[in-house]
Formats: sequence, structure tokens, C-alpha cells
Amino acid sequence: MQIFHSRLHAGHVPDRYAIGRDVLPARETPDRVDALLGALRDRGHDLREPIDHGLAPLRTVHTDDYLNFLQTAHTRWQALFAGTPRGEWVQPYAFPNRHMSARPDSVLGQAGHYLSSTTSPIGAGTWAAVLSAAHCAVDGADAVLAGAPVAYALCRPPGHHAYADLGAGFCYVNNAAVAAHRLAAARGRVAILDIDVHHGNGTQGIFWSRGDVLFVSVHADPDWGYPFFAGRADETGEGAGAGQTLNLPLPLRTGDAPWLATIDRAIAAIKAFEPAALVVSLGFDAYEKDPSALLSVSTAGFRCAGQRIGALGMPTLLVQEGGYAVEDLGINLAAFLEGVGT
Ligand SMILES: [Zn+2]
Repeated sequence: MQIFHSRLHAGHVPDRYAIGRDVLPARETPDRVDALLGALRDRGHDLREPIDHGLAPLRTVHTDDYLNFLQTAHTRWQALFAGTPRGEWVQPYAFPNRHMSARPDSVLGQAGHYLSSTTSPIGAGTWAAVLSAAHCAVDGADAVLAGAPVAYALCRPPGHHAYADLGAGFCYVNNAAVAAHRLAAARGRVAILDIDVHHGNGTQGIFWSRGDVLFVSVHADPDWGYPFFAGRADETGEGAGAGQTLNLPLPLRTGDAPWLATIDRAIAAIKAFEPAALVVSLGFDAYEKDPSALLSVSTAGFRCAGQRIGALGMPTLLVQEGGYAVEDLGINLAAFLEGVGT
């Protein structure tokens, strides 16, 4: 299997993670990739660095003003805060809401305008990591278009919480959406299956009104976990995309059997859509030992999910999303790939 991975991810090294008043060690860290790569190297896969495609593929699903913010924010922030404790990371603390939504001109205000949570800081190496992750997704899509039955974009940072003009939840550019658009442009109809434990709200938002991309998400009840404000079953798309979003939220601590039964429902919807290709937003944070503590899927459960996806027989691109039980990421990826049959 062709696997696309960039070493530039290692320049994005958030140090802290704030939940309310709690400041915790960062979860979305470079050692996640080390763990995943370890499992892949053991299996003798074909690891490739991505081609530099520039901004063009990102512009197919993101706005120019948002991409410009991501690209320049750290430099602009440095001009304000260099030499102070605030200088190292672009980090908003106030956000637009139901009552106010003007776009500020300053980077201080734009940080809250373009980043909707405190969990997506921008450091010196963030943009290079984000761009290279998107290029991994592009190359993965191109591998599928060239005939690969399955390819894997080992993206870091992840992407499925990023909207066309908004980053959040460890995400900046929506790698799965970049790939899905590329596949849809070439082949017509594409399905996205998101099995990260968190709802893929950004992906849903990007394809909300499009009829050529089906978005299906199996995730934990968003009443109790990020992203909180999206992911309900009654969100189904609109316009040309009416009926093309399927959310399948699950109660907290759901285990293997009902999780897999729900994936079967997702797969039935995907078959009915008859897509030319499938993109899987592949998170491992539904795992029973993940610090997210939302669902209780075992390593065997990931193997079974892989079997179901592999049995579809569709050209498939796997795009890495979350998963924070670093010590077990490798065995969970290996089990999933065994299930897929790669
Ligand atoms: Zn997640």
C-alpha cells in the first residue's frame, strides 16, 4: 500500500492543551506519528514524501482569506508579542458568537475569527506541517485515481474539524475534504466515512450543500464531547446536499458490537449512494483506552471495522484524523489495516 507522510509535521509541536481552567500536556503531538509509522514500517509498506502541490488543492475547499491567515498569522503575531510569553503561539481567547460576528483587521482579533477553539494554536512550524499534511491527502487521492485499491495519507495535524474558513479542535486544513473534492472532480461521486470518535463537523460543513459527496459520521454523542454544536442525527444537508449528510451519534462508552452495527448502517448508506471512491476519516480515538474517554472500541473492533470497509471493494483513501492513546496507536492501525486486507 502507498502511504504518504511528511516529516514537516514534526515542526508543529503544541506544548499545552487547555480545557476550561485545566491546562494539560498537549495531546496532538508528533509522537503520534512515530507510533503509527512504527506499525507501518513493521509491515513493509511503501512510504513516500508528498509532492509540493502549492495552495491550489487547498483552495478547492477553503477560502483564500482563511488560508492567508493560516500562512501569515504566526509572523504577524510575532510582530506584536515577540519576546513575551504570548509570542510563541497564536492563541485566541475570545470568539464570535450568536450576537457578534464582525471580522477584525488585527491578528489578535482574527485569531478568534478564524480559530474557533483554544485547541488549534499556530506556532512557527504549524503552517509548513498543515500544508504538507494536505499534500499527503492530495497524493493519496492521486494514487487512488491512478488505480491503487487503497492508499493511506498519514496526515498530521488532522483536519476533519476544519471548515472552509475556520480551524478548531487540533485542525486547520481539512485533509479529507481536499482529497474528497479531488476525487469527486475526477470521478463524479465520492463518499466520506468518518469513524473518528468526534463528529467531523468541518467536513460536514464543507459538503453540506453538495450533491456529489456523501458524508457519513459515526461518533460519540456531541452533547458530551467536542464539537458539541454539531453532529446530531437531524443534520442532513440542504439544497443539492439535502439527504447527503448522515450522522450516527452513539451513547457514551458504546463498545464494539453496537459501534460495528452502526458502521454497518453507514456502509449500507454508502453502498446505496454508489460512489466511485471512498474517503475514510480514520481516527483511533474511539478506542477504549483513549484519553477522550467517549467510546469503548477495542483493537479487535478496529480490525472488524477494517474488514467491513475492505469488503466494500471500493477505491479507498484512508486519511488519518485523531487518536491519542499513543502507546496503542500502532497496534490499532495494524489491526485496522489487517482487516482492510492491506
Ligand atoms: Zn477525534
